[in-house]
Amino acid sequence: MVRTTPFFIIGNWKSNKTVESAVQWFQDMQTLWRKEPLDMTGVTVILCPSLLHLTTLTSLVKLFKLPLQFGAQDISANLSGAYTGDVSAEMLAPLVEYTLVGHSERRKYHAENETELQKKVDQAAKAGIEPVYCVQDAKMTIPDNCKIAAYEPVWAIGTGKAETAENAGQVAGQLKARHPQITTIIYGGSVTHENVVSYVQTTSLDGVLPGGASLEAQKFYELIRQVAQTIRTPT
Ligand code: PEP
Repeated sequence: MVRTTPFFIIGNWKSNKTVESAVQWFQDMQTLWRKEPLDMTGVTVILCPSLLHLTTLTSLVKLFKLPLQFGAQDISANLSGAYTGDVSAEMLAPLVEYTLVGHSERRKYHAENETELQKKVDQAAKAGIEPVYCVQDAKMTIPDNCKIAAYEPVWAIGTGKAETAENAGQVAGQLKARHPQITTIIYGGSVTHENVVSYVQTTSLDGVLPGGASLEAQKFYELIRQVAQTIRTPT
């Protein structure tokens, strides 16, 4: 199928993996990649591990020559200074190209509201980090200075019950109509290597955001393989 912009795959590890198991994932991925390197034309893969692992993994990605970029799962709403526990945009900028903002788990467990999320987007933008703004339905507001949004219905996250590609595509269309600044809409919610093709075939969707399916190198590699193959298959 013909796509004029890259198809994004954003793996979200959430609060999973020790340093040891994160390194093991990279070793496993390198083994798979060496055995069968994939043509990644038109595919952008971004991994969002815990911030704790970023320094180690950014070195490993160069060493192993893997076609992965990095994203943060969250970013501080503040510049720098007395904000205990926060990791600022300035700290993240040398390590990541992207950051998630407003994931439903941040909104739920950390009571993040739209005022705070706007500040996070602003901090990311100032530091040259591209925010991926997560919304849970078509009616939610997306800040004007965001180009990438992820549609992630809460009921589909981690449940094994994915939104159909058709419905996700419709919501993407509605979000793009309401927010003309958005160029890229990604779907997240129980995406796996078994169902990813339907999302790639939906032209109003520009990517997927798998959580659980990014935790095992073998399953994530298989998901990337499905995307890369579908993109190259003539329609
Ligand atoms: C997510 O991490 O945002 C997510 C959609 O998780 P899962 O793929 O496990 O549903």
